[in-house]
Amino acid sequence: MTDTNLTAVLKKKGEISLEDCPIPDPGPGEVQLCMQHVGICGSDVHYWQHGAIGDFVVKAPMILGHEASGVVSKLGPGVTNLKIGDRVAIEPGVPCKTCQQCKKGRYNLCPDMKFCATPPFHGNLARFYVHAADFCFKLPDHVSTEEGALLEPLSVGVHACNRAGVTLGSRVLICGAGPIGLVNLLTAKACGAAEVAITDLDQSRLDMAKKMGANHCLKVTTKDPREMAQKIEEAFGGEQPEITIECSGATSSVQTAIYATKSGGCVVLVGLGLAEIPLPIVNAAVREVDIRGIFRYVNCYPTALAMVASGKVDVKPLITHKFKLEDTIKAFETTARGEGIKVMIECVRS
Ligand code: NAD
Ligand code: ZN
Repeated sequence: MTDTNLTAVLKKKGEISLEDCPIPDPGPGEVQLCMQHVGICGSDVHYWQHGAIGDFVVKAPMILGHEASGVVSKLGPGVTNLKIGDRVAIEPGVPCKTCQQCKKGRYNLCPDMKFCATPPFHGNLARFYVHAADFCFKLPDHVSTEEGALLEPLSVGVHACNRAGVTLGSRVLICGAGPIGLVNLLTAKACGAAEVAITDLDQSRLDMAKKMGANHCLKVTTKDPREMAQKIEEAFGGEQPEITIECSGATSSVQTAIYATKSGGCVVLVGLGLAEIPLPIVNAAVREVDIRGIFRYVNCYPTALAMVASGKVDVKPLITHKFKLEDTIKAFETTARGEGIKVMIECVRS
């Protein structure tokens, strides 16, 4: 049987089509990958439903998917770090490698970043895909390709916890128990956080957080951020957490994050909601609560892989649904309904 390259293409807002595309050949420094697993991210669903995220607008058909793993099937000229048959996790953003940000090591801020499934760049929800070899990370035999795909969201947790300064004994508040809140929970625990509290509106998400090691799970029942901050302080036994990692993007939750954080502490904004929101900024200023942003991750894949390979974190429970590539549309519909946590697509032909 000849190989075909079934590919999930977002034709335009609201329309995903499964098409047989040409199998791409690797150029210099690239590898061709036989795709194994691709997790669906909220951003994939957002592009499907809305055709844009902020300034990133889908203007031409775009292949979806960026949380991925594959098996090396062909080497491009000059590739020495991988060989055919290697199982790899794919870091989806390839920067220019020559600009100031890249040279400083903050390549996530590269203005010429080519990031899978962020328009105009194609993603990797396909049977075959080509990627820069130095942004592929070889998986040890005991790490599955599903876990490899989950290194993408896990890397967001690693970057956020690094930026927040989570360390031994930290008390950490995480706002929002979606996939991103949960990877932050896993990472904070692995960094040695002594106590982690997590908030959400949805009880089933809090139940999952409890299973994954959260010490305190708080259901948000008020829009008053000061009242919520008070509840959080009580959960921590009357002392505020010094670190808050906001993973919902909800306006009231960002406000709560500031009020809830101990003076001299740090709020890291991971969730991306409205472009402009009112904030208790004087409260943050006079209590020296630092507010930091994060954008994806930088140099975090090796750490995320080491955490999984060593058994320090178990990402497998995040996967609640599995689909075949042929059933991509069902997989997107399931994610859009907010069912479960992580929907995983298997790309190999059965
Ligand atoms: P998600 O929508 O699955 O999870 C968000 C969770 O927040 C949900 O469980 C929701 O019930 C909860 N929530 C909503 N309002 C809340 C409130 N007022 N208080 C507490 N919880 C509330 O999304 P996700 O995939 O987990 O991603 C979370 C956020 O992180 C998104 O905004 C996403 O865009 C952002 N994100 C940012 C980066 C980055 O680089 N900064 C990377 C990945 C994701
Ligand atoms: Zn650059």
